[in-house]
Amino acid sequence: MIKERFKTPISFSCDVLVCGGGFAGISAALSAARHGKKVVLIEKEYLLGGLGTAGLITIYLPLCDGLGKQVSFGIAEELFRLSISLGAEAKYPENWLDNNDIKKRTEKDKRFEVRYNPHIFSMLAEKLLLENGVEIFYGTYAVGVTKKKDKIDTVIVENKSGRQAIRLSSVVDATGDCDIALFSGAPTQVFKQGNVLAAWYYSLGQKGYNLNILGVADIPENEKNDNNKVEFLSNRRFSGLDGKEISEMVQLSHKSTLNDIINKRLNDSIYIPTMIPSIPQIRMTRRIVGEYTLDDIEKHKYFEDSIGMVSDWKKRGPIYEVPFSTLYSKKVKNLIVAGRCTSVTDSMWDIMRVIPCCVVTGQAAGTAAALTNNFSKLDINHLQRVLKQDCVKIHIDELKN
Ligand SMILES: Cc1cc2nc3c(=O)[nH]c(=O)nc-3n(C[C@H](O)[C@H](O)[C@H](O)COP(=O)(O)OP(=O)(O)OC[C@H]3O[C@@H](n4cnc5c(N)ncnc54)[C@H](O)[C@@H]3O)c2cc1C
Repeated sequence: MIKERFKTPISFSCDVLVCGGGFAGISAALSAARHGKKVVLIEKEYLLGGLGTAGLITIYLPLCDGLGKQVSFGIAEELFRLSISLGAEAKYPENWLDNNDIKKRTEKDKRFEVRYNPHIFSMLAEKLLLENGVEIFYGTYAVGVTKKKDKIDTVIVENKSGRQAIRLSSVVDATGDCDIALFSGAPTQVFKQGNVLAAWYYSLGQKGYNLNILGVADIPENEKNDNNKVEFLSNRRFSGLDGKEISEMVQLSHKSTLNDIINKRLNDSIYIPTMIPSIPQIRMTRRIVGEYTLDDIEKHKYFEDSIGMVSDWKKRGPIYEVPFSTLYSKKVKNLIVAGRCTSVTDSMWDIMRVIPCCVVTGQAAGTAAALTNNFSKLDINHLQRVLKQDCVKIHIDELKN
């Protein structure tokens, strides 16, 4: 153990600091900026989109319930449309986007989801944020916080300029790993089951340009039975929270990718990988323990403090109202989380971690951060009114058809 002593300059200040530029952070920064706040977004990589771009996870899962009803609106739909505005990679949902034919929407195989190009999306998202006045710092890692009583005063970051602090009024933790919540002493919980290995990559060969999906999703502990056993790339499981372990995971992922490429080249001599992920493909790591923890049995349940709705990407039918109280803990008054680190049970985590849900919670978190720096005191009716003005539908009874 060594002890370091240094003074850290406060280099920037803002109203809302968004930490993490994945889909949740993009949505949060956009909504806070649209409500007139000075917003800074920090991102440790050099492009926006997180797992959805650098991680090559380019399937924007459904905005609908699978039975013809759209359930996620607002920025969830805006970013969906943005992602394919220069063309979709596959699964263009014309029944939803073009002719509005509600009867066709109920066809069993049609859901409101799409495949987009990661790098086109990251550049379009960057343009959108810049046009809305968000200041983006790339290559900037949040490494700590300072507090004044029960509020975060500054977030400490490190980048090429060294170590510095950013002073803020409110913080959105969209790091995917709940880093800011951990640094600030808010209660957090890790994903106990651990993550299975994934190795998604893009390739070009005789059959054209392709996203190769290696490594299937795990089955939540409470859904496992003898009939739904799946084969994984590796027997090891990963927390995604230990530097050494993450490096080993990435190396195993590269090994699986390389084996796949070598096998495919046996029958296709021009087959090459065009993109491999530049961040670890890990699904669930750490989440906040919020004022409320949502469970997957709470489908179709009314929540007075709902901030929007999400569907279940794995099943047709379920709709969940998302309570505002899953986004914060009273212990750190000006901290709100978004994306894959909201307060949900392990089985609900597998539903809430996907892109549309991350954007829904991002919009609510960013809007709330523009309205207050004390989330437990926020007038929820006011937040809901603002979200509705921004095209979000809050409760299930607002859904038609
Ligand atoms: C193998 C796999 C398959 C998946 N399949 C799908 C699918 O088909 N469809 C779907 O919709 N979803 C899928 N998901 C889930 C989905 O991709 C992610 O959960 C979602 O994109 C998470 O968004 P986010 O913004 O919450 O987090 P992230 O995308 O993780 O974004 C967090 C961002 O914060 C940055 N960051 C992290 N820590 C710091 C820090 N300390 N300081 C600064 N920046 C930081 C990261 O670089 C990252 O850009 C899959 C995930 C995996 C791993």
